[in-house]
Amino acid sequence: VILFFHSYLLKMTKIIGITGGKGGTGKSTIATALAYELAKDKRILLVDMDADCPNDHLILGIKRELVDSVYQRIPKWNLDKCIKCGACGKVCETNAIVSIKGSNPIFMPLQCNGCGACFLSCPVNATSWDRKEVGYIFSGFKHNIDLLSGELKVSEPIAEIVVNNLKKTIEKKKEDYDYIIIDTAAGTKCDVIVALEICESVFPVTEPTPLGAHDLELILKLLSRLEKKVDIILNRSDIGNQEVIEKLSKQYKSNILAEIPYSKKILKNYSKGIPIEIESIKKVIEDIK
Ligand code: SF4
Ligand code: SF4
Repeated sequence: VILFFHSYLLKMTKIIGITGGKGGTGKSTIATALAYELAKDKRILLVDMDADCPNDHLILGIKRELVDSVYQRIPKWNLDKCIKCGACGKVCETNAIVSIKGSNPIFMPLQCNGCGACFLSCPVNATSWDRKEVGYIFSGFKHNIDLLSGELKVSEPIAEIVVNNLKKTIEKKKEDYDYIIIDTAAGTKCDVIVALEICESVFPVTEPTPLGAHDLELILKLLSRLEKKVDIILNRSDIGNQEVIEKLSKQYKSNILAEIPYSKKILKNYSKGIPIEIESIKKVIEDIK
């Protein structure tokens, strides 16, 4: 039993989140560099959950293949049944329905979040469920890295539907990997929260600028509410004022685990889709192993 438990523990998958309060801090560069380094001797799944703007495949030079569409439920109307009472329009908080007493409801699918309030409010069951395509799931493989990449359809607003779909796929595939690295969107919106919920350790990536510090504080507040283990990665560490980040690091009891100086080589490789090797990523690997 002890041997079984020991081998079970050894096989347990670790889910690591790379995130950032602000866009453009190098989050995806670091997520891909971490995946590249770990994949030298571990089974790695890299999940690009930045559904508004996925780019891990570009950084790693991976050709993605479409594996699935992501759908959101939306209501549809049977106007033969509708008594034009106007109730569905009144309950729709996103203003997806224009419904005036005495007229047929007019529906704007782009504004619908699928909450179901209109469905419940209809006194004559004139609504039922339909669905619309809101995004895509892609996969790819290169450098011994399995990649899953979610992408929101142009003009669709709700990225967390794509992120939730990726989470379901992770749940099914989890056992096949030693590490799952999640590259979240920037910011603290719902899609980021949904992505971070399943991570054991989270590494916010920031830079030593006033804007970097401001947005880092937002993500540190969020991570403290989610009760996550947090260490900061300081990118372009030799540019700007490190003190602002050190102050936050103390305030939120999060170490600055790795400092990555500005490098032209990183930029060159980034622009050519060549995997980036970063010396200080090894500190992150020591921390998560
Ligand atoms: S499902 Fe919700 S958001 Fe969509 S139309 Fe109905 S009430 Fe509005
Ligand atoms: S609540 Fe039902 S009956 Fe009333 S306007 Fe909407 S669809 Fe028609």
